[in-house]
Parts: sequence; C-alpha cells; structure tokens
Amino acid sequence: MSTLEHTPVQTRGTKPFMPDLVFFEPDALNYPKGQRIMDWVKAKDIPYRMTTSHNRITNLPGETEVEKYRMAKKTLVVGIRKTLTFDQSKPSAEYAIPISTGCMGHCHYCYLQTTLGAKPYIRIYVNTDDIISAAKTYIEERKPEITRFEAACTSDPVGLEHITGSLGDLIRFMADEEFGRLRFVTKYHHVDPLLDIKHNGHTRIRFSINSDYVIKQFEPATSRFEERIEAAGKIARAGYPLGFIIAPIIWYDGWEKGYGELLRRLGETLPQHATKDLTFELIQHRFTKTSKAVIEKRYPKTKLEMDIEKRKKKWGRWGQNKYVYPDEQQNALREFITERIFEHFPLSRIEYFT
Ligand code: SF4
Repeated sequence: MSTLEHTPVQTRGTKPFMPDLVFFEPDALNYPKGQRIMDWVKAKDIPYRMTTSHNRITNLPGETEVEKYRMAKKTLVVGIRKTLTFDQSKPSAEYAIPISTGCMGHCHYCYLQTTLGAKPYIRIYVNTDDIISAAKTYIEERKPEITRFEAACTSDPVGLEHITGSLGDLIRFMADEEFGRLRFVTKYHHVDPLLDIKHNGHTRIRFSINSDYVIKQFEPATSRFEERIEAAGKIARAGYPLGFIIAPIIWYDGWEKGYGELLRRLGETLPQHATKDLTFELIQHRFTKTSKAVIEKRYPKTKLEMDIEKRKKKWGRWGQNKYVYPDEQQNALREFITERIFEHFPLSRIEYFT
C-alpha cells in the first residue's frame, strides 16, 4: 500500500457564495440593507459597479456565451423589487415571495435556465419592508385561510442569506402572523444565521436531496449530501418544521438502488427528533424543448437524458409542452420511493408527487 492510501482524505466544506462582481442600482443605497451590502462588498474587496436597472446588466466579461453564463452566475446585482404582485406557486404554496432571483448553483436540469432567459445573474432586493407589506395584504385578503409563501421559486435564498439577511426578516415577520406561513427549499447547508431566529413554527425549511448519482452528475456548485443532512439536523434542533424535496427524480440504470440508498442513509443520519412532522415532496424530472436546447448549449457534456421519444407529453402552465416520464415509469418511481419513505419515516407525510 502506498503512503498516499494512508493519508486521510480532506473533504473541504462547500464555501458560502462569494461573487466576483457586484452591481448596485443607485437607489438601493438609500436602504439600510443596500448600504450594509455595499459595506460588505468593500470589506471583501469585491469589484463593483453602478447600474441603472437590475434588469439591464450587459457587458459581462467573457468571450463565448458559455463563459458569459458562468460569469453571470458569479455576478450579484443589488436592486429594488418594483413588481410587488406575487406569482402563484402551486403545488407547494399559494404565492411566491420574491426576495432574490437567480442562483450560483450549476444544476444542469434547473428550470431557471429557461425562466430567467438572458438574465442568469443573481439579483437580490433590498426593499424587504415593501415585500413584507405586500405579503401582509395577501394574508389579510385570505384569512381565516392560511396563506403560504414560497421563498425559493426563483432562487436558492439560503445560499445568499449571509449577504442579504432577507430570510431572517421574513421568518421574524411570519412568526407573528397567525394566518401566514413561510417555506423555502435549499441545496445549501449555510443555515447558521437562521438558527436563533424566533419562528413560532411558522416557517418550514426543506432540503432538496437526491441519489448519489444525481447529485454527482448534475448538481455542481451546491453543498454535498452530508452537508445538507447535517444542516437538516440543525434546523430540526432549532425547532423548525422540516421537510425534504426529492427532485428531480430521475430514471437511470440503477435508480432503485440509488433512491433506496438515499432513503436508507437519510434514515440512518437524521437525528431521531428531526423525524417528527417531516414532509416529503416528490417531483419527477421534466423538460421542455426550449430547456433541452439551452441545457445542451450550457452543459454540452451533460448525461441528462432528454429524449422526447422516451417521454410523455404534458401540457405546461406556461403554454409549452413539457416532457415527463410515461405513466408506467412514473408509477414505478412513485411507488418505490413512497414505500421507502414510509419504511424509514412511518410518521412522515408525502405532500405531493408531480
Ligand atoms: S441550487 Fe436550485 S436554484 Fe440553484 S441551480 Fe440548483 S436547482 Fe437551480
């Protein structure tokens, strides 16, 4: 055996996101949060520029489209959210609450690739008070029904929390709302800023998890599985309702072994107290013709299977057909994963499979 084989493997933790370039809308600096982010950018010595609008960032460095895309994922834009009408967010919540748009992750299958079109850079909004006032209006309109807000529809806000603090603001607000609930999902483990916040059980934090194969092949620049599970344990210890989203569920050679392993490892590593009131959301892989073209351009070597011939066509909400698995495969995936979930977590709840 060589000495190398005796050397313990150093597994480096996934570092919090650090942008290469930051743009500020001038008005953003009139808000305490904008000013605080500017101070942070200066302290970290990150290059910054001023811009007239967070929707008009041009001239990002890079020769090719792929280079520009990679640069955009390292570019942060600090602006003001002007549209305060919230989109619907079925099936996980009533409304999407917009605190950020864009993500530093490089998940091949991510739907932001098409929904954000030519603007893949990361936008964060400093007028959190306006966003919270709008949420309050939606809650008042629907009460005594509970109104749920999803904060991760267009971004992964946990990965940005060390810069924005916006999730903390929303959690504190929602703690006092009898009829309001917050939820968000993440692939990052940087949850420490959230642990001491008063939440009253009104915020459900979910971790996106997947089989080893899917994480390794398709989720570069996100936290490792072990990091996510450790963070889930911290979240449960802090008393937050906890959940997992298994998405996208992918059919590949060995999927039964992969998803079986995933749930077995989750059962073994999740602290016992974290398994009460646990929810699961299951989302099979889907794509559109547009997303397929974009993914093939941005990740030309991807092993993501997107063969229209092997899929079932389904009418999509945005007027585009999407391609999901044929019924037989869907049923096999759903049944197998459901059984494994209840085997390891008999008290959990599956919210939906879509
Ligand atoms: S972490 Fe989530 S939002 Fe970010 S690229 Fe991956 S799938 Fe998209």
